[in-house]
Amino acid sequence: MYLDDIIITYIQSCVADSSKVRFKAKFSRDIGDILPYVNGALKDVIYNKNIPSLTLRKEFRIITLYKDQLAVSKAINETDAYDIIDELKELINNVHESRDKIEPLDEMRSKPTAIEIYSYLPKQNCRRCGEVTCIAFASKLLSGQQNVKRCLPLYEADYKEKLEVIEDFIQMMGYSS
Ligand code: SF4
Repeated sequence: MYLDDIIITYIQSCVADSSKVRFKAKFSRDIGDILPYVNGALKDVIYNKNIPSLTLRKEFRIITLYKDQLAVSKAINETDAYDIIDELKELINNVHESRDKIEPLDEMRSKPTAIEIYSYLPKQNCRRCGEVTCIAFASKLLSGQQNVKRCLPLYEADYKEKLEVIEDFIQMMGYSS
C-alpha cells in the first residue's frame, strides 16, 4: 500500500465555530509526488505547487493536503475526523494505484483575489496590523506575507462570521493561520 497510515496530531474546537473541530494529521510517508495526480484527478480543488498544497471541500469542511500532513477545519466531531481520514487515505491510495491513467497537473488553480479578502476585513484602516490600509493587508495575506492574527479588530464579536470566511480562504491557499 502506498500510504499506510494517517495519524491525528492535533484536534481542537474551530476558532469561529466552537461546535465544530479542526485537526491536523501526519502521513506515514511523504505524498508530495502524488499531489499533482490528485490535482489532475479531482475538480474544484486549489493546488499550490510552490508549497505544495492541495485544498478541497467536503460539504462545509475544508481539507488541505500537504506533502507530510493534512489540516481540516469544520469537521463535525472526532468521529467525523476519523471518517475523513479514512476517506482521504482511500483517495490517495486509489490515485496512486491509477496514476498511469491520470494526467498529472502542476497548474495552480483559482484562488481568492485581494479584493475578495478585503471585503471580509473590518475596513478600518487602523494600521494595528502594521499595514497602512486594509487592502494592503489583504494583498499580503494573499501572498502569505501577513498573518490574519495581526488584524485584532477581526477578532471582535461583530466580525466572527467574516473571520471564519477569511480563515477558510487562508486554508484554501495552503497557508496556516
Ligand atoms: S488591523 Fe485590520 S482593520 Fe486595521 S488596518 Fe489592518 S487589516 Fe485593516
